[in-house]
Amino acid sequence: MLQTIAGFDRIGEENAFAVLARATELAQQGRDIINLGIGQPDFKTPGHIVEAAVKALRDGHHGYTPATGIAPLREAVSADLLKRHGAETDPGNVLIVPGGKVTMFMAILMFGEPGTDILYPDPGFPIYRSMIEFTGARPVPVPIREENDFAFSAEETLSLITGRTRLLILNSPANPTGGVTPRAEIEKLVRGLEHHPQVAVLSDEIYSQMTYDGMEHVSLLTFDSLRDRLILLDGWSKTYAMTGWRLGFAVWPDALIDKARKLAVNAWSCVNAPAQYAALAALTGPQTAVTEMVREFDDRRKVIVAGLNAIDGMSCRTPLGAFYAFPNIKNTGWKSKELASSLLEHAGVATIGGPDFGILGEGYIRLSYANSTGNIQKALGRIGEFLSRKSKS
Ligand code: PLP
Repeated sequence: MLQTIAGFDRIGEENAFAVLARATELAQQGRDIINLGIGQPDFKTPGHIVEAAVKALRDGHHGYTPATGIAPLREAVSADLLKRHGAETDPGNVLIVPGGKVTMFMAILMFGEPGTDILYPDPGFPIYRSMIEFTGARPVPVPIREENDFAFSAEETLSLITGRTRLLILNSPANPTGGVTPRAEIEKLVRGLEHHPQVAVLSDEIYSQMTYDGMEHVSLLTFDSLRDRLILLDGWSKTYAMTGWRLGFAVWPDALIDKARKLAVNAWSCVNAPAQYAALAALTGPQTAVTEMVREFDDRRKVIVAGLNAIDGMSCRTPLGAFYAFPNIKNTGWKSKELASSLLEHAGVATIGGPDFGILGEGYIRLSYANSTGNIQKALGRIGEFLSRKSKS
């Protein structure tokens, strides 16, 4: 018997990929499936970004690059963060990575070990908990509550910090809820964190450009008191419809950037060179495609929220960010995972059960509205019809 480390008894997965595989399988069997499961924009990567990658290959950019990323790209990330958040960042603190997910992998690996605690949002992106478990650290869920519009509570978060806490993971705008934490709450949290200088913070801001109804995105990067222990996770996947390119960026504090660089050298040497040129074109080129995509998401958001609220037994808060709706389904009488799986098998609509995002996700399902308005309307019709046929309440 091969003996691997104990972490593999605990590591989890992202069920969205299993749902995607099943949805694809059903579609290949000829079933008409509407996919509101996977979290990726249904738009194409803007043409000028694709062209930049093609040109990079034609120009001979096919070799290794520095492990941290090409210099012009790191400079463009700094300029972008200054423009969007008003925060100064030295390009030397920027690390280009193969996907935003890699930053959480690195940060959790850097801080997690038996005897330590890592705080993470529940419901939240499933990889946080999975990776924490892998390292042997204790995962401590920070409850994200519907009654708080799925924003995190500064008070509740701070109350969970102990002498064992090494890392706090925050995510706003959030997956799976679409919640956006308001400035006042973030400021309260930052003030509280000043009393816990041993706690590093991983701020997952991958949906930073997707907020609605005038809601502001407040980057943790703007708080000086955190800069020596803040890891910022962001990237191109969602903003520029580039999920399959595997591209992301992080800002690491002075004390950690060299450790992060060493992990990069050990694991992937550097990010795919033409993809880095594409990322540069994304940041320095026109932003109209981003604005249009977010406007389209906003329209669909209104359609999906209204539609879900019209279904008996469902109630849905209006998400203020990302592209997810997270309706409460408790009054349908269904358990979340059972409902999600039945909707896929019997109504042809892929969604994700709330418990795939943590224990507190029971009673909810996640629907991604990264699909056409027509498909969303059709899916809502199918869900409503399915529930009225299979009512459990
Ligand atoms: N963080 C959150 C909250 C996400 O929802 C996702 C993707 O779904 C990621 C990070 C990972 O993004 P990437 O595709 O760039 O690895």
